[in-house]
Amino acid sequence: MKIRVGHLYPDYLNIYADRGNIAVFARRAALRGHELEVTPISLADEVEPERHDLLYVGGGQDREQALIAPDLVAKGPGIEAAVAGGAALLAVCGGYQLLGRGYLGRHGDSMPGIGLFPHETVAGERRMIGDVLLECELEPGERRTLAGFENHAGRTRLDAGAVPLGRVLAGFGNDGESGFEGVRVGRAIGTYLHGPLLPRNPWLADWLLSQALAHATGGEPEPLAPLLDRLEAQAHAVSAQRARDRGGRF
Ligand code: GLN
Repeated sequence: MKIRVGHLYPDYLNIYADRGNIAVFARRAALRGHELEVTPISLADEVEPERHDLLYVGGGQDREQALIAPDLVAKGPGIEAAVAGGAALLAVCGGYQLLGRGYLGRHGDSMPGIGLFPHETVAGERRMIGDVLLECELEPGERRTLAGFENHAGRTRLDAGAVPLGRVLAGFGNDGESGFEGVRVGRAIGTYLHGPLLPRNPWLADWLLSQALAHATGGEPEPLAPLLDRLEAQAHAVSAQRARDRGGRF
């Protein structure tokens, strides 16, 4: 199959090697005989909701976020239509913040969001920096850990009843207080985790790929053939241990 990925603002939102997540999607898809077709979607490009099985947006500093925020709002209906139509989505940090209702940045800039995710973000005084470990249960009864690195001033408050991506085992998470990290809306996932996220958490890459394939085929998500993942497991273990030893705390 061809998996059609729309990569939002690759030229503006890409810190901590967030672009590496795309390399993981491409490689893991290829090892199962699928082809990833990646289309950059930047300022002035349109989002055609039918054209994407998976949308991806990375993180950025407040400055880059402010540059793209108004353009992203114009793309909001297209992105919402894609997700409502069953496309998968992964948003990291700065992108995660702007897919909520908005982000009030460190220097007082009020950036509008698109409201796909049920949350709001306000920057605090101290940055929340460090390794993070989460426990997630995207499929009932299947608990998995997710390890990464966070560096954000924004405190993200989920609306009552919103579904977080996971529970924080070590680190700060959405706001350093709630014990939640990220958000999930159907096949759309938002998270603060960089590093990049997917090389050390291949199960999440595969979960997103199987959702994207379900969109491409019009069928149900199917588990993908397992891969060896020895280095990935080691990377996860090192990262998880770092989070347990010195996960983000002030
Ligand atoms: N600029 C945002 C913040 O500081 C997002 C940072 C990021 O993407 N790492 O909260």
